[in-house]
Amino acid sequence: MKTDVLIAGSGCSALYAAYNLPRDKQILLITKRDLETNDSFLAQGGMCVLKEEGDYESYFEDTMKAGHYENDPVSVEIMIRSSQRVLKDLIAVGADFAKNPDGTLDYTKEGGHSGNRIVYHEDVTGKEITSHLLAAVKKLDNVTLVEYTKLIDIIEKDNVCYGAIIRKSDEIRISRGGKSLTREEAGFDDNILEKVEADVTILATGGIGGLYRHSTNFRHLTGDSIAIAIMHNIELKDINYVQIHPTTFYSEREEDRSFLISESVRGEGAKLYDKNMKRFVNELIPRDLLTAAIREQMEKDGTSHVWEDMRTIDPKELREHFPNIVGHCEEMGYNPSDECIPVVPAQHYFMGGIKVNHESKTSMGRLYAVGETACNGVHGRNRLASNSLLESMVFAQRAALDITKNYIRGGYGSINFATGENCEEDKRAAILSEVLLDNYMDDDAITEKYRRLVREEIQKADKAAEGFKDEEEYERIKREKEEAKANHK
Ligand SMILES: Cc1cc2nc3c(=O)[nH]c(=O)nc-3n(C[C@H](O)[C@H](O)[C@H](O)COP(=O)(O)OP(=O)(O)OC[C@H]3O[C@@H](n4cnc5c(N)ncnc54)[C@H](O)[C@@H]3O)c2cc1C
Repeated sequence: MKTDVLIAGSGCSALYAAYNLPRDKQILLITKRDLETNDSFLAQGGMCVLKEEGDYESYFEDTMKAGHYENDPVSVEIMIRSSQRVLKDLIAVGADFAKNPDGTLDYTKEGGHSGNRIVYHEDVTGKEITSHLLAAVKKLDNVTLVEYTKLIDIIEKDNVCYGAIIRKSDEIRISRGGKSLTREEAGFDDNILEKVEADVTILATGGIGGLYRHSTNFRHLTGDSIAIAIMHNIELKDINYVQIHPTTFYSEREEDRSFLISESVRGEGAKLYDKNMKRFVNELIPRDLLTAAIREQMEKDGTSHVWEDMRTIDPKELREHFPNIVGHCEEMGYNPSDECIPVVPAQHYFMGGIKVNHESKTSMGRLYAVGETACNGVHGRNRLASNSLLESMVFAQRAALDITKNYIRGGYGSINFATGENCEEDKRAAILSEVLLDNYMDDDAITEKYRRLVREEIQKADKAAEGFKDEEEYERIKREKEEAKANHK
C-alpha cells in the first residue's frame, strides 16, 4: 500500500494536520480504536486563546511560570500568536463556544491563569472541537480514515522514514469522503500486517496514560510512538515530565479511567477541604504544586482523598457550565449542589515526548510528531491548564505547512518536482522489501515490550534527575533560564 502522507492517530492533532495538508495529496489516517475514542474528545475545561494584545505578556508569563521556566520561549510565543487563527478555523468548521448575552465570546479561567482567557463549550469543549474537525475531515476526498488499525513500527533506513508497518484488526472500518470502502477499494491487502509506503509519516498517537493504573486518559494510549522512537534512536525530550491532575473523582471501584473534575470548576470558585472540612490550600495554584499539597494533606490526614466543594458555585451556573461533571457525580451517588465530592490526583498529561523543532519535525528525516506524543517545549516541566488542545493544533498545522512547503520544493516523494526525475523508486522498493513482517506477528509480545521500553525510559530519566546534585551545574542552568526569560521580555 502506498500513500503520500501517513498519519497515526485520530485526535485533534491528527485531524487538524490532515485538514491543513494539500488536497492533492493522498492521506492515510489510521487509528487504534474508533475515530472518536481519544483524549481530545475528553477535554473538558476549554482552549486558551490570546483574546486581546494586552493579555500577551500575562499569558506568556503564566505559561512560563507554570512550566517552571523550562519552556521553550519561542514555542510559547508561536502558540500564543497562532491561537486566534486556530480559533477562527474551529468556528469556521462549526465549533460553538460559550457567549455573553451581547454575542461576544465568554472566557473562563483555570488554575495558574491570572485572567479569563479560555474559550469553552459547557464542560465538553474537546468533543465540540474534535467532532467538528472530524466531520470536516470526513468530507475530504483525499483522506482515507482507517479505524481499529494500529501503527506497530516505522520503516526506516539511515535515519529516514519511508512509511510504517500497520496491524489491521477484524473490526477494521474504512471510509473516504463520507463513503465506506472495502479493504480492496482502499488498496489494502487481506493480511493482518501490511507495509505502508509513505513520503511522510506523522506520529499523533497521544499520551501515555494507559501505562498508569490511575489516569484520566483512555487505556489504549500507551505511548506506542515513544517506544518506536526509542527503538530507532529518535531523539526524545523531557521524557519524565508527567503531569498528575490534582482533582479526579475518587472511587473505590476498579475503573477503566479516572473521571476528571475540571480545573475550571475551581476556576469558578470550588474549594478543597481536608478531612475536617477545612480549606488547606489556594485551589488555583499550578497543577504540580496543588497535587503536591493534596498528597501531603492526604498523608497528614491518613485519607485516600480530599473533598471538593462546588456549593460555592451558583447551582444554576454549576449545572449549565458543568452538566457532564454534575451528571457523573450524580451517577456516583453525590449531589454536588448539596454536598462535597471526594477527589484524588491521577496521571493526566505527558509534557515530554518525541523531540521536535518548531515545525514539528523529529530528528529523523520525513518523520513528524504532533500533539501529546511530541515535545516542542511549550509546556516546560508542567503544562498550564487548557494549553494542550491549542498547542496540539498549532503545531499540527505547522507540520502540515512544512510538509506542503517541502513537497512544493520537490523535497518529498519519489518524483523530484524540481528536476522531474524519479529519484528513489528502486531505492524505496529495496528498503521496503528488507522488512520482514514475520517479526511482528506476536502482538502481545510487542505490546508488552513497548510498555516496558517507555516505562524504563521514564524511570531512567527520573533517576538521572534525582542524581542531579552538582550545585554549580544547577546554578548555571538556573542563570541561563533567567537570562532567557529576561531576554525574551
Ligand atoms: C479528561 C481530560 C480532560 C482534558 N481537558 C483538557 C482541556 O480542558 N483543555 C486542554 O487544552 N486539554 C485538555 N486535555 C488534554 C488534551 O485533551 C490532550 O492533550 C489532547 O487532546 C491530545 O491530543 P492528541 O491528538 O495528541 O491525542 P489524542 O486525542 O489522545 O489522540 C491520540 C490518538 O492516537 C491513537 N493511537 C494511539 N496509539 C496508536 C497506534 N499505535 N496506532 C494508531 N493510532 C494510535 C488513538 O486511538 C487516538 O486516536 C484533557 C485530557 C483529558 C484526558
